[in-house]
Amino acid sequence: MRYDYIIIGSGIVGSLLGRELVRYSFRVLMIEKGSDIGMGTSAANSAIIHAGYDPKPGTLKAKLNVRGNMLWDHLATELGIPFKKKGSYVVALVPEELPKLQELYEQGKHNGVPGLRLLSGEETREKIPGISPHACGSLFAPTAGIIDPFQANFFACENAVINGMELRLGTAFVDFLWENGAIVGIQTNAGEFRSRWVINAAGIHADEIMHKAGIHADYHIQPRRGQYVVLDRNVFSWDKVVFPCPNEQGKGILVATTMHGNTLIGPTSENVENKQALFTTEEGLKQAIEGGKRLVPNWDSRWIIAQYAGIRATLFPTKDFLIEVGEVPGFINICGIDSPGYASAPAIAEYVIEKLREKGEPLLPRHDFNPIREPRRLFKHLSPEERRRCIQKDPAYGRIVCRCEEITEGDLLAEIRGPIPARTYDALKRRTWLGTGRCQGSFDFSRVIEILARENHTSYYQVTKKGGNSRFVFSPVRGRDDL
Ligand SMILES: Cc1cc2nc3c(=O)[nH]c(=O)nc-3n(C[C@H](O)[C@H](O)[C@H](O)COP(=O)(O)OP(=O)(O)OC[C@H]3O[C@@H](n4cnc5c(N)ncnc54)[C@H](O)[C@@H]3O)c2cc1C
Repeated sequence: MRYDYIIIGSGIVGSLLGRELVRYSFRVLMIEKGSDIGMGTSAANSAIIHAGYDPKPGTLKAKLNVRGNMLWDHLATELGIPFKKKGSYVVALVPEELPKLQELYEQGKHNGVPGLRLLSGEETREKIPGISPHACGSLFAPTAGIIDPFQANFFACENAVINGMELRLGTAFVDFLWENGAIVGIQTNAGEFRSRWVINAAGIHADEIMHKAGIHADYHIQPRRGQYVVLDRNVFSWDKVVFPCPNEQGKGILVATTMHGNTLIGPTSENVENKQALFTTEEGLKQAIEGGKRLVPNWDSRWIIAQYAGIRATLFPTKDFLIEVGEVPGFINICGIDSPGYASAPAIAEYVIEKLREKGEPLLPRHDFNPIREPRRLFKHLSPEERRRCIQKDPAYGRIVCRCEEITEGDLLAEIRGPIPARTYDALKRRTWLGTGRCQGSFDFSRVIEILARENHTSYYQVTKKGGNSRFVFSPVRGRDDL
C-alpha cells in the first residue's frame, strides 16, 4: 500500500501533525522506533506552555510559540488534556537584572504576547509567597500555562489513531527511498514503506534524517541536557511557575508546579556529546537544587522523590526552528524543535498544513473526523456511586495496584486493551500516573509485572520498564522457576 504521508517520530510534534493530516482524506502512517509513543523529549521537559516573550522577534520560534499558546486552549478542551493557564513570572533577584525584565517585556509585546505586566519587588513578593526575599521585580505573563505533557502527547496520538492514522511502534527509520530525485518512501528495520511525502519529526535525531535527505549538511543539533528534581506534593505545596532572569544558557532553573501538584525544579543546561546521555549526575542535581533554592529558599532536598533529564534539540548555527515543505521533493523537514517546542507544537502542525495548501496539496476534509477524545476516567476520579457500579461491572476496579496514586487494576487493563495498547511499565505510567507518588513504584512493581505478563501472554522475564532490555526480572525469584 502507498501512503500519502509517513511521519517519523511520535512526539508531540509528530502526533499533533498526524492528527491534523487525518482531518483530510489522506492515508497516514506514523513510525516510532520506541516501544511506545512519546518516549522522547516530549516526555522529559518543564511542561510549560510558554507565553512567547522569550524567543527573539522575527524568528519562527517567536511566531509559532505565541500562536501555539493560543491554540492549546481549544485543543486541550477537544482532547480532554489537563491544562491550566496559571501565568508565569520571571523574577529579578538583584537590581542589575531589572533591565532584562524590561527587555523581555518589550520583546514579548513585539511578539504579540497579551497581558504582560512588570511588577515591583513588593508586588512580586506579595504575589509569590515563598519567593526569595531578594526578589526586586518580575515580569508576569498571564497566558503561560502548565500541561500534562505525557497525556497531551498520548491523547493527540490516540485521537489520530482512532481517526485512521496507522501507527507502527518499534519501527526505526533507516534511509529514504528515492526515484528521479524525489523521496518516495522509507526503509526501516521492519521493511520498506512508500508514500507521497515523508515527514521528519524525529526530535533530537532530526538533523541526522535531514542530512540523509541531502540538505543542510552544515547544520547540526547540539544536544544540551537539562536535569530536574521533583518534590513530594505531600510535604511541599507550590502553585506558581517562576523563572529566574534568563542568561546566555537559556531560561534558567525554574520552580514550577505540575498538573499533578508536584513541584518541579530545573533544568540545568549542559552541552553533552551523546544524544543518549539521558541520565542525571551528582553535579547536575546539585546545580538544580542550588538554582531552585536561590529562587525559592524554603524547601528541603530530603523532599525530592524523583529526578530526570531531557535533551534539548538546539539547531546550530541558527538556534531557530527549521520547517520546510518540499525543499527536497516529497520531504517535509521539522528540525531544531527545542524549547518552546511543546508550546509551539499545535502551531507547527498548522504551519505545515498551510505550506501544503500553498503547494496545491488536495486538502479534502473528512466528514467522519472526530476531534473529540472520549475520556477513560480513572477510578479515583469517579463519584462513590460510579465507583460502586464500576466494581460491580468489573471487579478489577476493586483492586488497588498503586496506593500513592490510587490506580486500580481496572484502570491498567483499560490502557493495556486501549487503542494504543500499553505494553510496558512506563507506558502504563505515562497513561495513568501509576508509580509516580512517594514510593515511586515500590508497592506496585510486582503487581504490574504480573498483570502485564498475564495480559500479554508472556513470562515475567519478558516484561520491561520501557522496551529493549529494561527487564525487571532476570532470574528465578525465591526458587520459583514457573514465571
Ligand atoms: C530540559 C527541557 C525542557 C523543556 N521545557 C519545555 C517547556 O517547558 N515548554 C516547551 O514548550 N518546550 C520545552 N522543551 C522542548 C520540548 O520538550 C520539545 O520541543 C518537544 O517535546 C519536541 O517534540 P518532538 O516531537 O519534536 O520530539 P520528541 O518528543 O523527541 O519526539 C521525537 C520522536 O522521534 C522518534 N525517533 C527518533 N529517531 C527515529 C527514527 N530513526 N525512527 C523512528 N522514530 C524515531 C523518537 O523516538 C521520539 O519518539 C524542553 C526540552 C527540554 C529538553
